[in-house]
Amino acid sequence: MTSNAVIAIHGGAGTISLASMTPDVEARYHAELRAVLDAAQRVLVEGGSALDAVTEAVRLLEDCPLFNAGRGAVFTSAGKHELDASIMDGRTLKAGAVSCVTRVRNPVLAARRVLECSEHVMFTADGAEAFAQAQGLELVDPSYYHTDDRHRQWQLARGQQRAMLDHDGATLAAAAHTPDAQITGDAPPREPIDPDNKFGTVGAVAVDLHGHVAAATSTGGITNKQPGRVGDSPLIGAGCYADDATCAVSSTGTGEMFIRMVAAYDVAAQIAYRGVSLDEAAHDVVMNRLPRIDGRGGLIAVDAKGNVALPFNTEGMYRGFARVGETPVTMIGR
Ligand code: ASP
Repeated sequence: MTSNAVIAIHGGAGTISLASMTPDVEARYHAELRAVLDAAQRVLVEGGSALDAVTEAVRLLEDCPLFNAGRGAVFTSAGKHELDASIMDGRTLKAGAVSCVTRVRNPVLAARRVLECSEHVMFTADGAEAFAQAQGLELVDPSYYHTDDRHRQWQLARGQQRAMLDHDGATLAAAAHTPDAQITGDAPPREPIDPDNKFGTVGAVAVDLHGHVAAATSTGGITNKQPGRVGDSPLIGAGCYADDATCAVSSTGTGEMFIRMVAAYDVAAQIAYRGVSLDEAAHDVVMNRLPRIDGRGGLIAVDAKGNVALPFNTEGMYRGFARVGETPVTMIGR
């Protein structure tokens, strides 16, 4: 037994827009992150596995409309939602993932069932939904994922004929909405991270009382993405990785670059092959390797000794961690 148990979470990275930050909105983000950490910390305190803790944390983040996963997911260029999620158990190296699901309420639960109940690692689209349904998971009407903020964000991205990261689109949407809002008094909430540069994916990593690690990641992807586009989040090695021997990692950022850098696995590989610390490996991937190809974003990582690294190369990242027996810490900016 070890008392190194800790849970860390993220809700996306991006550019902190001080001008558009209101204390109320900032407080709301902190409160949501804190509630998720409290719940996941309880799982660990009660002797639950790291796998259970990250599943619970990501499930709650998916249900929170502030983040780009589950309810509150971004829109594709076809005006729909396609969700991706993955999970990995560092004790067994078992993994599960789903991509392009459109009706599964909690994609992380579907990924978890793939890990536990299937000989495969990843299911996509219709096949993933059929699998989730056969597993008795809750399916929802696609309108469940809809939020007005993301819709406004999508309309802007569509107007500019480009795909954009979640928080990037949200800031633009807020700015574009301002003249009307002043007249109607109907201002959208201003979020502290500039939506023009934000990646709203969610994720969690944990080490439990037995020294096992796990990671999970879930996302709606990027605003105005082409139907069928898959980012790093559901890809084991890019958006998610866990191995007791090295670390557990969950990424957020420009998915294509995280795929090309095999970002999450690279943190683990550097620990294994270069013998560096968790902090050094995570820092190298985010600050040196990803910027080589203009990869923007960050990651969260823990190792079996309870070390935590939360590097990002943007101005901010919604994040927090909670050690067993200690008060949770939440942060947004540097
Ligand atoms: N990495 C995600 C993707 O490319 C986006 C994000 O982190 O918000 O799908």
